[in-house]
Amino acid sequence: MIDEKEWARAVDVLTGCTEVAVACHVFPDGDALGSMIGLGHFLRRQGKKVWMGWGSPVLRVPPQFGFLPGLDLLGGEPPAAPEVFVAVDCANLDRLDLLQPVFRAAGTRVNLDHHATNDHFGDINLVDPRAASSCELAYELVLRMGGVPDAEEATCFYTGIVTDTGRFQYSNTSPATLRTAADLRELGVDHTRVANEIFESSPFGYLHTVGTVLGRARLQDGVVWSWLDLRDLNGTRLDEAEDMINLLRAVREAGVAVLLKETEPGRYKVSMRSRGDVDVAGVAAAFGGGGHPKAAGFTAPGGVEETMNALRATLYPQMVAAAAPTGVPPEAPVGLPAELPAEAPVAADRDSGGRDTAG
Ligand code: 5GP
Ligand code: MN
Repeated sequence: MIDEKEWARAVDVLTGCTEVAVACHVFPDGDALGSMIGLGHFLRRQGKKVWMGWGSPVLRVPPQFGFLPGLDLLGGEPPAAPEVFVAVDCANLDRLDLLQPVFRAAGTRVNLDHHATNDHFGDINLVDPRAASSCELAYELVLRMGGVPDAEEATCFYTGIVTDTGRFQYSNTSPATLRTAADLRELGVDHTRVANEIFESSPFGYLHTVGTVLGRARLQDGVVWSWLDLRDLNGTRLDEAEDMINLLRAVREAGVAVLLKETEPGRYKVSMRSRGDVDVAGVAAAFGGGGHPKAAGFTAPGGVEETMNALRATLYPQMVAAAAPTGVPPEAPVGLPAELPAEAPVAADRDSGGRDTAG
């Protein structure tokens, strides 16, 4: 819940200023891009000088978001000390990466986000974990500024909603989320085109990438997990593989799904999804990351085996504590003793090619 005073301060600052930097987190997803570009375009339309981008040396938009309007306006040299800085979809300052000095030097710093783990790093904090997406908050900000998104801005906001709710499927999809989506449709969003662009435009090689990753999936102690190495990509870009975790998540025997994605040789980004009561945001935070109770991530401390051993040791007690989605606790754990030893357990056998199941 965002205080009325906090909204009013944000509206005052953004209405009164002439220069704004709007930035999202590195490795942006649909919600990060949608909230940044939708809000950025709206502010430009109000006659403000707007810089948009994120804190990577080179800005690459994932191909499935190539349809978003005005991508040519992203990037370039950011202002050294913008009058106002709006960070969107960032749970903490680290997520701005190379833009952190710009954020610190800004006159007024606005933090617009919906992560429960947000640490309120702004001067003004528009943070509401009940919002399914940052795009809902960005849309509300536009309305509170007395504006109405045009069809392109509405398309940006809709994009973040449809991606962060898993196409209106996840438990974060509230009546308010659906009402906002309906408003945006009325403002001219072509929802069929958005869905086609994001979810149904994979390159052919992706089929084989999926085959490889699914073929080596493991099911251990109620955790279904796999990994994607750079050499598995077959011409697919890593940022086109965002939906892959959802294939793992669909396994009914699993309470948690984990996918490790190699981002550069030997370095992995870990995605986690919870189907039940395990709060993966808390688990991710223990590994230096964050996210939402049912979708979270972190940068792996080591390789696949090392990371999965540490992660399974952290997850296992929680898997036992939380009833599995079916109401049945995880079956006899495979690879882990019922009582966890003090040190982390058991190397997963990466090369057996076999599937470990509890049954
Ligand atoms: P994904 O698995 O799709 O990359 O991320 C799922 C959720 O976890 C997103 O809300 C994302 O913002 C968050 N997340 C992923 N990686 C990190 C990370 O390294 N740090 C933090 N704080 N959040 C992350
Ligand atoms: Mn988001």
